[in-house]
Amino acid sequence: MDSAVIPAPVTGRTNLIGLSREEFAPLLRAAGVPEQHVKMRAQQIWHWIYFRGVRDFDAMSNISKELRTQFAEHFSLARPKITSEQISKDGTRKWLMRFADGKEAETVFIPEDERGTLCVSSQVGCTLNCKFCHTGTQMLVRNLTPGEIVAQMLVARDALDEWRSEDRHLTNVVMMGMGEPLYNFDNVKAALHIVMDNEGLSLSRRRITLSTAGVVPMMARAGAEIGTNLAVSLHAVRDEVRDEIVPLNRKYPIAELLAACRAYPGASNARRITFEYVMLKGVNDSLADARELVRIIAGIPAKINLIPFNPWPGAPFECSDWSQIEAFAEIVNRAGYASPVRTPRGRDIMAACGQLKSESLRARRGT
Ligand code: SAH
Repeated sequence: MDSAVIPAPVTGRTNLIGLSREEFAPLLRAAGVPEQHVKMRAQQIWHWIYFRGVRDFDAMSNISKELRTQFAEHFSLARPKITSEQISKDGTRKWLMRFADGKEAETVFIPEDERGTLCVSSQVGCTLNCKFCHTGTQMLVRNLTPGEIVAQMLVARDALDEWRSEDRHLTNVVMMGMGEPLYNFDNVKAALHIVMDNEGLSLSRRRITLSTAGVVPMMARAGAEIGTNLAVSLHAVRDEVRDEIVPLNRKYPIAELLAACRAYPGASNARRITFEYVMLKGVNDSLADARELVRIIAGIPAKINLIPFNPWPGAPFECSDWSQIEAFAEIVNRAGYASPVRTPRGRDIMAACGQLKSESLRARRGT
């Protein structure tokens, strides 16, 4: 699967968002910064972009006017454009972001009492085709670049107006938007390292969760090289069922997936793996399924996130009855696993889990 870093679209000026400080260095040299200043200038620019959230070089007041003009000629700090914003009656906000090449992806902010979670996309569209997921009905258009992934957080901070505030609402990031993050590993890794950087956005890895449908060969690397919390979209306990609803299972069946979870670096009681389990009426929600779930995850430090199925137009499933979800949760809970039922957020604006989709199409070959 293609996880190569896609270069930023050509705009004439190099967009600095999404590059590491080390990647700044040759660019600064080329823009005329003397060698002995390169490191310092890289630090300064980094601070302005990721700590202060500035959107143009003119605001970088510890850099001389002359140099700022030079930077503005060579570089850009352009963010994706918000082409639509919707606000749910529960406060959830969904933004459709348009990137430099016109492709679009959605980002969702979910405010809660004690925290606020930004749900970030890693691809435009998706290859996985999970049968209950709206994004799965859209073809993969392309991977997002590190800059496009990080920029979703920058734009959210802009929209929430919280660059200056100490009292921030955006406290957590989940890689649970459109796309499969482990099929865009290099770019997601680069982006999350920027999000975690202490001199910038500075979000702790404990406040970031990467969700995968189970790209088994990439899971150990995700643990070792990114090190965030892991969520796994399990959704079924038997291969016959999972093969149907999460077709990736035909490649990486349940036993292999669970073995990768057991081996996930850093999994412990303090840092449990989250298993996501969408509740589909009559498909995966029997009490026998609940008991089987408990059996197959034995020994994995885990919590089970039960997600009531979020409907979308034409979806071939119904959400399990509430009483069934509760009975399922009860069995899992009695076996010693936390089994919170995820409250659907933003359903009225199609912002809940699995409801995201954009109109972007893949360019035809050769165009
Ligand atoms: N590709 C990654 C990231 C997407 S995360 C992954 O599969 O984990 C989005 C989560 O929402 C996944 O657990 C996904 O399976 C779940 N989901 C998808 N469609 C849904 C729907 N209609 N209702 C509830 N959850 C859904």
